[in-house]
Amino acid sequence: MSSVYPRRASPPVDALPLCIPADVENFVSHMKTTKSLPPITWNNLLSELNWWNVVFLGLTPLLGILGAYHTKLRWETALFSVFYYHLTGFGITAGYHRLWAHRSYNAGKLLQYFLAIAGAGGVQGTIKWWSRGHRAHHRYTDTELDPYNAGEGFWYSHIGWLLFRPRPKPGVADVNDLTKNEVVRWQQSNTRPFASTRSRTGSVSRRSTTGTGGEGYHNFHHQFPMDYRNGVKWYQYDPTKWFIWVCQQLGLASHLKVFPDNEVRKSQLTMQLKRLRETQESLAWPSDNNDLPVISWESFIEQSAKHPLILISGFIHDLASFIDDHPGGAHWIIKYIGKDATTAFFGGVYNHSNAAHNLLAMKRVGVLHGGFPQGVDDKVVPPSQRLKIARYAELAR
Ligand SMILES: [Zn+2]
Ligand SMILES: [Zn+2]
Repeated sequence: MSSVYPRRASPPVDALPLCIPADVENFVSHMKTTKSLPPITWNNLLSELNWWNVVFLGLTPLLGILGAYHTKLRWETALFSVFYYHLTGFGITAGYHRLWAHRSYNAGKLLQYFLAIAGAGGVQGTIKWWSRGHRAHHRYTDTELDPYNAGEGFWYSHIGWLLFRPRPKPGVADVNDLTKNEVVRWQQSNTRPFASTRSRTGSVSRRSTTGTGGEGYHNFHHQFPMDYRNGVKWYQYDPTKWFIWVCQQLGLASHLKVFPDNEVRKSQLTMQLKRLRETQESLAWPSDNNDLPVISWESFIEQSAKHPLILISGFIHDLASFIDDHPGGAHWIIKYIGKDATTAFFGGVYNHSNAAHNLLAMKRVGVLHGGFPQGVDDKVVPPSQRLKIARYAELAR
């Protein structure tokens, strides 16, 4: 069975232009040569509208609603509409998006013709027009060269961009491969009168996955655009991925591209660490060693007469707010006021729990001059701080 792209074990480097960040030189020269249309205001609103799309996008749902009120629903119709929705949906998601815009797998001619016809039924324009815009979306994500720039707001990125003439034109994107493709050309020559129409799964992150053929894992897709999956786990709701996989089993598709699991997991780890870092930052931590005043032994003794100060591991702790809450009894704390309780705290009298170590560190008010242990000592670093999330710049310090 033939396929659009020569079969290779791995894609050549020049076949991967869509996942590289926006090329600055290209971006600038494009901005210089493209005249941007004026911003939309109340005065030019009517002249800037794409009337064909306004009528089509307005009339279709209107007819649907009217029809639903005047015609009794037959179960055959309901069943057909679900079937037709998925059929045309796969044309867009498995065809326009993952096969043609991203080349995330190879499809034989039979599957290509099927997807081209089903995709045309989705009324989202031609493969070439759609893929060109979509490649620009990935290349210039959320800039004004992104045809569905999320920076313009939710409504613009979902439907507004279809209702108005594009300003500026979408950024340059290479679609030479599609121009050469027999099936793409065939579709282009047979569906010309139909330009852009239905809203697509555009540029807003974190959307629901149901009802979009599994196109909802938008963040993953932008990180790994050539992966044939959007929901990376086999069980994640992504019917398009299952559809492509079944096509492979039937011999209709091949070379399904999958990003290395190791790299996918790295991205997942980063997200988890970010969330943990937020938790870490929401908690109160002991004062930094360098921020604590250095206190002499004499001063410590002197001030202990007025405050319940106790020395442990070179740190001076003020236990005024804790004496009565001490599980072992207030008398143990009183006994060690103005004294070094390191040995007693670390098992001499009682081997305290991790939580006790953490709480003790919160009571630090000073460092004893000459009494601070060198290096990283278990007795100095509380258990809750032995493993923590640090940014790269913080590690370098
Ligand atoms: Zn996107
Ligand atoms: Zn995409």
